[in-house]
Amino acid sequence: MPLSPWGRGGFTPGSSHEESPLSLHGRGGLGVRVRKGKSPQLLLDDCSTPTLNSYLHTLCSTRAEVLCYNLRIATFNPLDNKTTSCRPSLDLDEEAIIMDFELSDEHKLFRDTVRDFAEKEVAPGALERDKTHRFPNEIVEKMAALGLMGVPFPEEYGGAGGDTLSYAIAVEEISRADGSLGLTLAAHTSLGASPFYLFGTPEQKEKYLKPQAQGKMIGAFGLTEPHAGSDAGGTKTFAYRDNGEWVINGSKLYMTSGRIAGVMVITAKTDKEATGSRGISSFIVENPAEGLSFGKDEDKMGLRSSITSPVFFENVRVPEENVLGTPDLGFKQFLEILDGGRISIGAMAVGLGQAALDAALRYSNERQQFGQPISNFQAVQFMLADMATRLEAARLLVYQAAWLKDRKKPFTKEAAMAKLFASEVGEEACHKSIQVHGGFGYITEAQVERYYRDVRLTEIGEGTSEIQRLVIAREVLKSAKKAGARA
Ligand SMILES: Cc1cc2nc3c(=O)[nH]c(=O)nc-3n(C[C@H](O)[C@H](O)[C@H](O)COP(=O)(O)OP(=O)(O)OC[C@H]3O[C@@H](n4cnc5c(N)ncnc54)[C@H](O)[C@@H]3O)c2cc1C
Repeated sequence: MPLSPWGRGGFTPGSSHEESPLSLHGRGGLGVRVRKGKSPQLLLDDCSTPTLNSYLHTLCSTRAEVLCYNLRIATFNPLDNKTTSCRPSLDLDEEAIIMDFELSDEHKLFRDTVRDFAEKEVAPGALERDKTHRFPNEIVEKMAALGLMGVPFPEEYGGAGGDTLSYAIAVEEISRADGSLGLTLAAHTSLGASPFYLFGTPEQKEKYLKPQAQGKMIGAFGLTEPHAGSDAGGTKTFAYRDNGEWVINGSKLYMTSGRIAGVMVITAKTDKEATGSRGISSFIVENPAEGLSFGKDEDKMGLRSSITSPVFFENVRVPEENVLGTPDLGFKQFLEILDGGRISIGAMAVGLGQAALDAALRYSNERQQFGQPISNFQAVQFMLADMATRLEAARLLVYQAAWLKDRKKPFTKEAAMAKLFASEVGEEACHKSIQVHGGFGYITEAQVERYYRDVRLTEIGEGTSEIQRLVIAREVLKSAKKAGARA
């Protein structure tokens, strides 16, 4: 198992360790990573395994911290051969530092773990899947086993007990390998599962959030309609009460993963008299259901191995208890859902932009013209410098929005800024990367044209760039007004 960028230190792993049949990836695997100069850390799939203590005993002669793939940390004490204080690895209460631009060791370890997984399991088939439009069920299953399908949800709901920052990191790293899978992950988590976390009753959380967070059920979200896109308050889908049930009629457009979802949350008008965005409610619709059908999968510019399809509701009946949150307040609810979702779309753009920069760095060092690598030319260096600088700024905006959300501070403006900036910077990085690659950049095999096609969606989905600018303008004007009132 490659340890880079990790080395061994602190203790001596068992001799057969690197060749362990219990491989880094996949259920039952025990992987070990020891960070140079840091306290020993083992990386395990599942710290609840009964063999854990005896396994650790063969490895550790000193106290060791154990980070499991399921995002829990345990402390192993070789003296009494016991693993103790098993806890979620990301404990917000522990954080005392207010201003720190370094990721914590735990976030770094998490990032490296997802990166390893993405490089080994996700990236290799991404080009082929883009050509064949094949949805990678087998990779989603592995992601579920690693806890990646429910990163920001508490363990009691089947999640990994992580935070929004670790979720953003996961989306970035998966998107860096495959934008389609990045979108699948983002839509499942932010749009499919989080409405249940934010607004669900305990019963709804148990029934729908838990299996989604465990990755046993894919979730989807239906807001956009043929006549209601940016103006999502213009929803025409309608639901009425009949015999203790709700009857839904209408249609949704461009639903990500809808066809393969076990459950979807959709918006429908419930008060015909209400004008504008009022009188809209959110409904839980299980798939399959009588009267629920899907149109042909869309043939898209990019993100071709994620599934996007229209959805039709013809007298779909759901029980009373399938209203999610407060009836008639669906519009307010989905604005809150989209605020969170925008952080992950920003992370997706950063991941794709980073992939484009990585490719440009590699290629510019290899490609020789005029007897030297093209990275020697200042014009090429300037493109690399701009890409690196803007991507770093975009990443910081994404992290900031995630940080604010985790601390329950207002983050609407910051999430919109992160999405707006990251999507435009991501697109620019892909554009420049193609330029650095010259003719090869235009060829599929180079992969950068795929990144370019994939990243384009991030300027459209979950609110276009124009809508983000409207949100940001509204927020800054509000602040200015407040400041004016104080002056
Ligand atoms: C691959 C993909 C996956 C998607 N997944 C989902 C999903 O899972 N669930 C879901 O509900 N939706 C999904 N969508 C839909 C997506 O969120 C919408 O396409 C997006 O919100 C824009 O809506 P629209 O396409 O109707 O564009 P429109 O609203 O028709 O906008 C067209 C243009 O007009 C501009 N415009 C509109 N109003 C204003 C205004 N007031 N001021 C300035 N400019 C304005 C827009 O910015 C844009 O440039 C997906 C879309 C795609 C392509």
